[in-house]
Parts: sequence; structure tokens; C-alpha cells
Amino acid sequence: MAATSAQSDPAFPDPVRIILDQTRPLDHPRGDRLPLLLWPAQHALVDDVATQRRIIEALDTRGVAVIANWRWDDADPSVTRRSLDRALAAARIQQELGLPVCVNANDIMYGFFGSEETAHRDEAGHVVDDPSIPSRRGCPFRIDARYEPMRRQTTYFVDAYRRAGVPLDFVYGDWEIDGPLEINRAWDAARKCAACRRHIPDIESFDAFQIAVRTKRSEATRVTYSEPILEAYPKALVGNYAVYPHDGWRYWLDYFETFETDHPHRMDRRAPCRRWYDDHPLTGYTFAMPVVYPWARTWAWYDFEDGDYRWLYNMLKVGSNAAAHTDPRTPIIPFVHWHTVYEPDPDDPSIRQMSERAYQELLWHLLLRGHGTFFLWCMKNQYPKEVALLHEVWAASLEHAEWLDQGRPITFDVPAEPGTVISGLRLDRRVLVRRTDFGETNAGDRTVNLEGGGTLRVPAAPGRCQVLAVDDR
Ligand SMILES: [Zn+2]
Repeated sequence: MAATSAQSDPAFPDPVRIILDQTRPLDHPRGDRLPLLLWPAQHALVDDVATQRRIIEALDTRGVAVIANWRWDDADPSVTRRSLDRALAAARIQQELGLPVCVNANDIMYGFFGSEETAHRDEAGHVVDDPSIPSRRGCPFRIDARYEPMRRQTTYFVDAYRRAGVPLDFVYGDWEIDGPLEINRAWDAARKCAACRRHIPDIESFDAFQIAVRTKRSEATRVTYSEPILEAYPKALVGNYAVYPHDGWRYWLDYFETFETDHPHRMDRRAPCRRWYDDHPLTGYTFAMPVVYPWARTWAWYDFEDGDYRWLYNMLKVGSNAAAHTDPRTPIIPFVHWHTVYEPDPDDPSIRQMSERAYQELLWHLLLRGHGTFFLWCMKNQYPKEVALLHEVWAASLEHAEWLDQGRPITFDVPAEPGTVISGLRLDRRVLVRRTDFGETNAGDRTVNLEGGGTLRVPAAPGRCQVLAVDDR
């Protein structure tokens, strides 16, 4: 196979060689399933077209997509131009090979907040600083002038793709610390701002503030990002980090977020669950992108003796929340990660790293609850291990492509204590099941009551999936 000799090709960038070294060619064809999306595969673009083709082909033997980057630089338009040229060259090759054209649009999504013009101002016209997002001055109601220039950034690339006659299949952003947000002490600043008070008469209610801010945030990203892409490519998957349908609660805190006790919340042990507005429908996004990470602070939220279950409990809750509330026709593509994420928390020796086994079981449970593929985020020094762990599960899951494509999840339940976790996809009278036991669980059979009637008896089968028949009696 060509990929074997390509593996050590010195013309390939290091991230590509790491992916090839850490993975094996697929045993089961990817078919129509989404490719595996890996952070290092965003560093797989080169200027030489023949080399680019060999990179795309080699990664495709692993089911991994090459992801182009759209860059925007007002000061140096050659940066923008060069990113477009490379992206189009990759897209032409992907088109010829019948592979999805994938893009990281993060760079063009930033730029709503930042200047005096977009800052909150009090009744006297003085700037009100909002320290909730460092160095970003912004009022949700003073950013409309940014829409047109930001939309132009998107149409610059989309129009070029159209003119070149290439498809556009997957576009994502990692847009987070820009634009209207209700986090940290943003509410304090907004309450001092004349425009915010005028637009949100009930601003003393956090719920009213959150709804107004999230509505504006969704509008900004829809008008400048998702709409121009979808107008040209109606079938494209377009989405953004951490935007996904949910049950009205958020079970995790991002690295730039602090827990504010005066924001509506409930506690699950020591885990703050914040009331959250479901902005996904307002964004126009066509896929869901939950964030399933072992954040360091999660560790102290729970007191389970089985440390693995502290991680898995929270991560599976986040993933299941998205799965249970996303239309089955909308793909779920979670950001995943294995190493403990210490940002912003200090490295704490009492925190135990999630085991490889627990992480890989988590990945199986996400797939068997309806997640479509994975997007790996990781640091450079983590590439080898993160790629190897994730690819192994994803590649093995392709054996069950029929179930993953057509099966209906049987449960989104996450046990409140370490115990037996079951996930499954049902096709008619049969279910593809994964069972993982945590804590001191006995190995006896478990019975799951299925929606729409019937039960399923699930024996222990560590480390593998089983196909079981539904009991109708
Ligand atoms: Zn304001």
C-alpha cells in the first residue's frame, strides 16, 4: 500500500508523519461516514501539489481528513491570499478523490469586539470596560457595523470556492472569546451600559440578560458565517466549538469561565450546573459540537473513589445531553481530548489522569449514543498518544457502520454513582450494545427497559460490543 512507504516521507510535515506513525490503514471502509477530524491534520497543507496529493491520500488510508485553514490578515493580504491558494489546491485534490472538503474557519470568525467603537458606554458616553473577556471591549448592541466587513471575509473564501467549482463539505470554528457573552462578570458591565439597558428592559434578571446576549451572539455568527456559507453550499456542515442543542443546562466550565454564584444554577455534588440558553437553532449551524474534555476542575466536583468515573460521569453527561436533544438528522461532532486539561487550573498531583481504558470506553459510548465522528483537540506534545487512542476506537467502530448509520440510541442514562454504563443502537429487534462497569459492580446481567416497549438483558462483556435481541415479553 502506498501509505506504507509514504509514512516516513521526509517531505511530509511532522504532524502528518505522527498521524501516520500512530495509526494503521483502515480494516473496514469508511464508506459514507464522516472522516476522523484531528487537530494535527490542520498542519497538513504544503505548497507542492504532488506532495499535497500524497498527504491527502496517505491520511485517507487512515480515514483522516486534511483540514484547510482560512486565514484573514488585514495588514498583510498576501497571508489571506496564500491561505486561499493552499486551501483551493487541497480542495481540488479532495474533489478528484471523492473526499470531503474540510475547513477551519476560526480565523475569519474573530473580530466583533475589540475597539472603542464596540465598547459598552454609560449614559454620559464614557466607556465601560467589561473584564469578563480580557482585552476585548464589546457591547452586544454596538457590533452591527462589524457584520458587513466580517461577512465579506467569509464570502471572499466561499466565492472563490464557487468560482473554482470545488465543493465545501465541513466548516468549523473554534470561536469562543469574542462577541457577546454572558459569562463571568459580563452582566455587571452590561448593567452600567446605556445601550444594554435600553435593549434589555428587564436586565436585572439574569435570564433576560442571557437570552438577549445569546440571541445577539447567534445573530452575529449566523449573518457573518453560517448564512453566507449555506447560501452557496446548502448541504455543508457548518458549526462552532461548544454550540450544541441541550436540555437547558451546562455541565462544564470552559477554560475562560469562572463559576458565578449569582447566575442561575443547581449543584450536582460540587459540580455547578449552569442554566444555559439553547442558541444552536438561532445560529443556523448544521452540526452540533459539544466539548467533551477531562477538565482538571472536574476532579474535585465528585467524590467517587473510582477516579475514572469522575471523568467519565461528567464527560458522558455532556455528550449525552447533546445526543438526547439533537435532531437525529443533524450530525454530532464532539471535541474530544484525553490528557487532563489543566488550563486554567494549576497542575495538582492529587488529580489522577483518566485511564486509557476509561477514555476509550467513553468514546464507544458516545458513538453508541449517536455521535457521528470525533474532532480531536490537543497540544503538540500530546499528538502521538491522543491520535493513537482516538483512532483505534474510531477505526474499530467502522465495523459497525450499519448500526452507526441507522441505529436509534436506546438510552442516554448516566448512572449517578459508579456502576454499569450501557449504551446501544437499535435496529429493529436487535441492539448493538456496549457495557462498561465502574466501581464495585457485580458482573451479573443488567436489564434495560427500552423506549417503545420491550427489554434488553445485557451480560457483562468487557472491552467489546455485543449484538443482542430485544425481549418482547
Ligand atoms: Zn452594552
